[in-house]
Amino acid sequence: MNVVTEAVRQPAANTTLDFDAIVIGAGVSGLYQLYRLRELGMTARVFEAGSGVGGTWYWNRYPGARFDSESWTYGYSFSQELLDEWHWEEHFSGQPENERYLNYVADKFDLRRDIQLSTLVTAAHYQEDSRSWKVTLNDGTHRTARFLITAVGVLSAPTMPRIPGVESFKGQSHHTHNWPKEPVSFAGKRIAVIGTGATGIQTITEVAKTAGQLTVFQRTAQWSAPLHNSKVTQEEMRKIRENYADIFARCQETMGCFIHAADPRSAFEVTAEEREAFWEKLYGEPGFGIWMGNFRDVLTDREANKLMSDYLARKIRERVKDPAVADKLVPKNHGFGMRRVPLESGYFEVYNQPNVKLVDLNETPITAITPDGIRTTDGDQPFDMIIYATGFDAITGAFDRIDIRGVGGISLKEKWQDGPVTFLGILVDGFPNFMMVMGPHAGLGNFPRAVEFTSDWVNGLIRHARERGLTRIDATPEATKEWTDHVIETNDGLLFNETDSWMTGINRNVDGKGVRRVMRYSGGHPAFRKRCEASTAGGYREIALE
Ligand SMILES: Cc1cc2nc3c(=O)[nH]c(=O)nc-3n(C[C@H](O)[C@H](O)[C@H](O)COP(=O)(O)OP(=O)(O)OC[C@H]3O[C@@H](n4cnc5c(N)ncnc54)[C@H](O)[C@@H]3O)c2cc1C
Repeated sequence: MNVVTEAVRQPAANTTLDFDAIVIGAGVSGLYQLYRLRELGMTARVFEAGSGVGGTWYWNRYPGARFDSESWTYGYSFSQELLDEWHWEEHFSGQPENERYLNYVADKFDLRRDIQLSTLVTAAHYQEDSRSWKVTLNDGTHRTARFLITAVGVLSAPTMPRIPGVESFKGQSHHTHNWPKEPVSFAGKRIAVIGTGATGIQTITEVAKTAGQLTVFQRTAQWSAPLHNSKVTQEEMRKIRENYADIFARCQETMGCFIHAADPRSAFEVTAEEREAFWEKLYGEPGFGIWMGNFRDVLTDREANKLMSDYLARKIRERVKDPAVADKLVPKNHGFGMRRVPLESGYFEVYNQPNVKLVDLNETPITAITPDGIRTTDGDQPFDMIIYATGFDAITGAFDRIDIRGVGGISLKEKWQDGPVTFLGILVDGFPNFMMVMGPHAGLGNFPRAVEFTSDWVNGLIRHARERGLTRIDATPEATKEWTDHVIETNDGLLFNETDSWMTGINRNVDGKGVRRVMRYSGGHPAFRKRCEASTAGGYREIALE
């Protein structure tokens, strides 16, 4: 008998629990975590609020929703068969294909039998006597499990703007996250889009193609740059398949797990002509190269950042015919790359269309939604449809919406009220057997690359405990403090801290989210993995295992 297999046997104390593990969320993270838990021979149940799997790619059906990651860097890497079978149709594929892909994964690995859809987890309380979690579902019933693993997403708790009268509007209104499954027609209609983040920019570009009239309500202009999407030919796909190992290895080396790595040169090491030529090249290339593959100091040096921002401002002014409109589209309150860079496919040209109007909310704020449309300080405008591209209560929002309580009934939301505290973004002291895949303090970037690593690490930790018959896993307060301090230190002095955005914890539509906080790890994924691996190699010394 293999010693490990024998030892991994479920400890007897588990027999009264419903499952070994409960996972919340069936997106990229939840699906993968379930797959891995099964490998440990564990019983698991995934609870998912949506009526289908896919998470982000199930919910966000708005027109134009698509990857800014190269599709072929985003897919799972764990199964050679899956890599061999799946043909990405576009270099930056759209929501329908992404949803199809994740459904394909769910079917291929027979994941559905452990996933309960249309089920919202409302509460999760740790039970010290049984070292388990009692999870409450929206039908009022409970399920218990030794381990609770959250895969709830960083951009999954949508927020509406705090404008009076939202409910009074008589026309159609949609938040981009909760977009209907049925087709929505814009033809001949008067459409308002509120919000110009990454989602707003994708939506506006698509809606403008058929809308009768489109009015865009912009609070923050964005340093958007071209996506340059195209179809993936059979020949390209063949080459991608041949190179998957190198592609994933390259992603592992970069700070954000993207295929793009920063150029080692400073923006000041080259002549002005060379700099301009390099930026022209990046502007003409697909994907996040312009953000992630730029001169090494563009995101860290104020002067370099200003030069890059000036370059992009010129681009916007070249593309938008009306200089007054162009001026409104040039960001004034943040430099390039300080907020998530939205990639676009003809966004700026939309404002050259006669049926499109831009309203700058800094000049004329919205004061109310009326039954017929939108009221700004400039007067009333009637609309047939209002689209809210107003984003998310990011990173901690999905956690805050669940009443999560650890030892002694302490609330996670309260513990995090001055900012998240975690060990490796995965554990929280005082919340035993609770693990987060892509929670706060995780590094953002090309998600699945980080998801696979994090889930594997969680699995390794659980395996380690089960092999030793240990049933309580809790990060020590010291380790939690040390990691949290480290996360804060790695943010020190970074330019992006000077900008309000979801990445710095700001959402004016959510109480308590008006103060900037360190929400994510900025030390880069290679450093993050190294730290996790050191913990494993050290026998998880930072974690109290009993
Ligand atoms: C429009 C958009 C575009 C994006 N583009 C990219 C991109 O190009 N590249 C990239 O790397 N990332 C992108 N992202 C980030 C994206 O969220 C991740 O890539 C990835 O999909 C996250 O997967 P996840 O499983 O961690 O979370 P999600 O996909 O958000 O899934 C979380 C799931 O948990 C469920 N859930 C949450 N709370 C509960 C609860 N209490 N009870 C039950 N179920 C619950 C939700 O319903 C959801 O289905 C994008 C995000 C958005 C919104």
